[in-house]
Amino acid sequence: MKLIMLGPPGAGKGTQAEFLSEKYGIPQISTGAIIRSVIASGSEFGKKLKDLIDNGNLISDEDVLKLVKERIEEPDCANGYIFDGFPRTIAQAEALIKMDIVIDKVLSIELSDEEILKRLSGRRECASCRATYHIEDKPSKVEGKCDRCGGELICREDDKPETIKHRLAVYYESTAPLKAFYKEKGLLVTAHGQKLLEDTKREVLKALGELK
Ligand SMILES: [Zn+2]
Repeated sequence: MKLIMLGPPGAGKGTQAEFLSEKYGIPQISTGAIIRSVIASGSEFGKKLKDLIDNGNLISDEDVLKLVKERIEEPDCANGYIFDGFPRTIAQAEALIKMDIVIDKVLSIELSDEEILKRLSGRRECASCRATYHIEDKPSKVEGKCDRCGGELICREDDKPETIKHRLAVYYESTAPLKAFYKEKGLLVTAHGQKLLEDTKREVLKALGELK
């Protein structure tokens, strides 16, 4: 099974990718993780990538594809893999085809903007011990205080409504064309994110044809 996962921030794409990775016994491949490991290796290429990132530059499609190609040639990818956060652009998706990488399905996890806002903007983190809470789904016993250490609970910059709206806008701009691209190729399936994790898993399995 060679799968691509799409989905807006906050839809639980990473969690579902993890679940499917276990279910099918195939690795979950995120370009972010590959890049971090290449940088950690200290190789020449790793140094080049680190310089690019430190200077606030994007890594070129060419370099990303080179990294992905090397990764999927590793033995644990023999039975397939799940791309999480890749491809990000039509150019990358087209390059996959040119490299004769055949994808079986593209799974998009959908969630409305209101649900995403509610989910992400309700998240809180302890400023001292980093324990996580959610004002509705997992509230602390005392409002604004960490159950574990009594530290102050804060809303991360990433989870502030304005930042979320910006992240969503970026997502729609880059991903809407990808969805159309794969839909046209007959590869796109969609699952709606649910309030409960188990329910989302069921929707995902239905979308993949594993459940009726
Ligand atoms: Zn704490």
